[in-house]
Amino acid sequence: MDLSLDETQELFRRTARDFAARELAPHVREWDRAEAYDPDVLRSLAEVGFLGLTLPAEYGGTPSDQVAYCLVLEELGAVDSAIRGVISVNVGLVGKTLVAWGDPDQQAEFLPGMCDGSRIACFALTEPGSGSDPASLRTTARRDGGDWILDGQKTFITNGIRAGVALVFARTGEGRRGITAFLVPTDAPGFERRKIDGKLGLRAQDTAELFFDGVRVPDAYRLGEVGRGLAVALSALNRGRMSVAAGCVGIARGAFEAALAYAKERTQFGRPIASFQLVQEHLAEMAVDVETARLVTWRVASMFDRGEEVTIESSIAKYHASEAAIRVADRAVQVHGGYGYIDEYPVGKFLRDARVMTLYEGTSEIQKLIIGRHLTGVSAFT
Ligand SMILES: Cc1cc2nc3c(=O)[nH]c(=O)nc-3n(C[C@H](O)[C@H](O)[C@H](O)COP(=O)(O)OP(=O)(O)OC[C@H]3O[C@@H](n4cnc5c(N)ncnc54)[C@H](O)[C@@H]3O)c2cc1C
Repeated sequence: MDLSLDETQELFRRTARDFAARELAPHVREWDRAEAYDPDVLRSLAEVGFLGLTLPAEYGGTPSDQVAYCLVLEELGAVDSAIRGVISVNVGLVGKTLVAWGDPDQQAEFLPGMCDGSRIACFALTEPGSGSDPASLRTTARRDGGDWILDGQKTFITNGIRAGVALVFARTGEGRRGITAFLVPTDAPGFERRKIDGKLGLRAQDTAELFFDGVRVPDAYRLGEVGRGLAVALSALNRGRMSVAAGCVGIARGAFEAALAYAKERTQFGRPIASFQLVQEHLAEMAVDVETARLVTWRVASMFDRGEEVTIESSIAKYHASEAAIRVADRAVQVHGGYGYIDEYPVGKFLRDARVMTLYEGTSEIQKLIIGRHLTGVSAFT
């Protein structure tokens, strides 16, 4: 299946494929084992324009439509989802949110550093006691003259160690309308971070706990109105789910291609294993998952490009693509036999990286409840 891509979209896809082959593929295993990527890759990502995808050119961004954005994330995800995720957060969760909700001064101050890699962003919503239910978050922001003082803790924050700015959600009042969003420079006094090691997948990516101890933020860095933070967060996640889905298409495709190539070259019983019907069943199921995941993801991207409402479609895409990525990567390990279990082959990492996709930016259960609420008109959350 292929949408008829235009020339520009094809160019983005080719550029991303070449970039991934040249800049990522030679290092993926080493970075995964070291639980850290080479920070120089941020410069390369900035040079090729990927850290500013879809963002305004006047702030150093790389204008592109959302389909092209998904093509790039698929290509990077097919080689290294850890690096794909850096862009998903910097652009998908924070950059696009800054464009949607920020004023010109905020955009001029923060977007250039996010696009050139000198000040990448993280998205700080989750707390130790608040995951699927973000309305229960407890980090506080209290007014002090023209500033706000932040106290609290965030956890599982992607890019948290390297970020120069954090989009932080804090409580400024009671209930769902008592949350406000802030752009917090990570060199502010009172801000600290600690790396979370030992992740199952996305090991090269930095994930951190963030601590706020009387961090002072000017009111000029408040993103959106006081009390509208949950709306900011949910709109960011709505866009972000498309990034995750596109990355999942990449994982699924990478795992499928590896399994197909291996099945053709590996012989048992005097024949390539690809000739066995049960192996062909694996490959056929994988191909269907890759194609359908891509279709639902591109549907969301083209709806965004047309300015349409996408809440349900982005949940469907995220849910289907993330579950598909796990299924495909798991089958790819099966097709590789014992060789799939060691990291000389890429499929084990695809499976480990895929596993988080049904967990973050709304678990599969949460996506199903969002879809179910739309279908029935009844919310299971309240
Ligand atoms: C590698 C990684 C990177 C991450 N990056 C970020 C980031 O950059 N920024 C950020 O803010 N967060 C990030 N997260 C956090 C992630 O979004 C949360 O882990 C996720 O939202 C789930 O929250 P939780 O872990 O607290 O699980 P819980 O909410 O405690 O859920 C536990 C289980 O209960 C189920 N459950 C919960 N509520 C319901 C319900 N109403 N009905 C049915 N089942 C339910 C869940 O589906 C899940 O199976 C990251 C997490 C990981 C692992």
